Parts: sequence; structure tokens; C-alpha cells
Amino acid sequence: MLKGKSALVTGSTSGIGLGIAKALAAQGANLVLNGFGDAGAAKAEVEALGVAVEHHGADMSKPAEIEDMMRFAAERFGRIDVLVNNAGIQHVAKVEDFPTERWDAVIAINLTSAFHTTRLAVPAMREANWGRIINIASAHGLVASAQKSAYVAAKHGIVGFTKSVALETATTGITSNAICPGWVLTALVQKQIDDRAAREGISVLQAQNELLGEKQPSLQFTTVEQLAGLAVFLCSPAADQVRGVAWQVDGGWTAQ
Ligand code: NAD
Repeated sequence: MLKGKSALVTGSTSGIGLGIAKALAAQGANLVLNGFGDAGAAKAEVEALGVAVEHHGADMSKPAEIEDMMRFAAERFGRIDVLVNNAGIQHVAKVEDFPTERWDAVIAINLTSAFHTTRLAVPAMREANWGRIINIASAHGLVASAQKSAYVAAKHGIVGFTKSVALETATTGITSNAICPGWVLTALVQKQIDDRAAREGISVLQAQNELLGEKQPSLQFTTVEQLAGLAVFLCSPAADQVRGVAWQVDGGWTAQ
């Protein structure tokens, strides 16, 4: 379906980003990966699917590095047809204790980076009259939790940003949508589980069950493969008129 097209997935050396990159590659897209994890291993996993793959190590909190990555992608593949804004970090603290440097980092990486990649990708998408912008938001883009003020602000922000871009591109072949996962068992969530187990003096398994029981009625983690399946659908012709949605894949979290 995506043969001859190219995709850029931010934060794709692990977790959800890597899963989406692999699913897009399986559809034939060439890939630009990004992220601070093991770039060689991620690249090899995606290359095994028979597409051309590059990695750019831009720090998504630094606009100049994002600009360099977008230039690099355009030089290598002509343009970016599918842009997946996925890079994200978390910090958990009460608002009065929230380190201001962490606030700035969460907003920069989880929200502002998507503004920069999108503003730089849209002109070539407009020229081609085709493009897919997929923002990985969160259940926290729709509802809040305590001690996650920066993350919740950034994720609500990216849902709004997704809708604005969808309206600006509504008469074109470019669509902009957000995916809102519930708990997915990646490094980002494992850290929260480990912290909880240590804080409460309980086992990791108990902490995991508590985490799910609090928020996710299905009591099952959302998987990377399920999110990747939705990303592929959003790239398909069937999704041509899916514009500006924030689509939950959250085991019922936000239905409550
Ligand atoms: P992860 O920690 O496995 O992956 C995050 C990726 O972002 C990694 O590749 C990391 O290297 C990269 N990254 C971090 N800081 C970066 C920076 N400054 N510049 C460039 N890359 C950077 O986490 P994940 O769970 O796969 O999260 C991916 C996205 O999904 C995030 O936006 C996260 O908020 C969102 N999300 C995750 C969950 C979950 O339960 N795991 C739920 C909802 C939303």
C-alpha cells in the first residue's frame, strides 16, 4: 500500500514508534527512524522488511536539530509522505513539586516537536496532494490523571493541534489524526510500574495489576501491534475522510 512512499517516525528506536515503523515498512514505505535507543538494532529490524531505512538522532526538544532531520529526510527520500509524531517522555510529580526544567522538556518533546515536524513536512505534502500526519497522543489527551500535569497538558495540546492541522488541510489529500493509547507495556510505562512497586513495597506484578485496575477496564495492556494496525489503517484510502479524530485504543479507559 505504501510502496514508493516514505515515512518518518519520531522516537522510533523502541516501543510504539518502532512498532509503527515496522508496520509501515511492511506496507512498503521507506523509513527515517529517530530516537536515542539502539539505532543499529532498530534499523536492522526495519531493514529486514526489505525497505530503505535511515536513522537521524535529532533531539526532539531542539528545533535546529529537527530542522536538520527534516532536511536530511527530504534529501534522502524526496519528501515525507507519512509523518508519525511519536517521541514522548513522562515525568510524574505534584504540580507544586514539578521541576520547571522537566515541564519544559515534556512540552517540547511531546508537543512542540510535532509543530516543527508538521510545519516542515506539510509544504511537500501539499505539492503531492497526499500526506498522512499521525500524532501519538494518549488517553491523557482526553482525560487527566493527578501528578502528570505537563504530560496531560502536552497530550491535550497535541489533540487540539491535530484538529487545527486537519482543518487547514481539509480540502487536500493530507489527513491529520491522533491515536490515543491507554497503557502499553513499553519502557515508558515499565518505569512507572517499577517506581510504584518500590514506593508501595509491592511486587512488580502487583504494581502492574494495580495500574491496569485503576484506569483500564479491560485489565489488559494495549499492544504496540494494535496501535500499528490503526496507523496503517489511517494511511489507507478507507481513511481518506478520517480527519481530525482522536482515536482511543485504551481498553475502555476514557469510556468511563
Ligand atoms: P518509549 O520510551 O519506549 O519510546 C520513546 C521513544 O522516544 C524512544 O525511541 C526514545 O529514544 C525517544 N525519545 C525520547 N526523548 C527523545 C528526544 N528528546 N528526542 C528524540 N527522541 C526521543 O515510549 P513509548 O511508550 O513507546 O511512547 C511512545 C509515545 O506513545 C509517547 O509519545 C508516549 O507519550 C505515547 N504513549 C505511550 C503510552 C504507553 O502506555 N506506553 C500510552 C499513551 C501514549
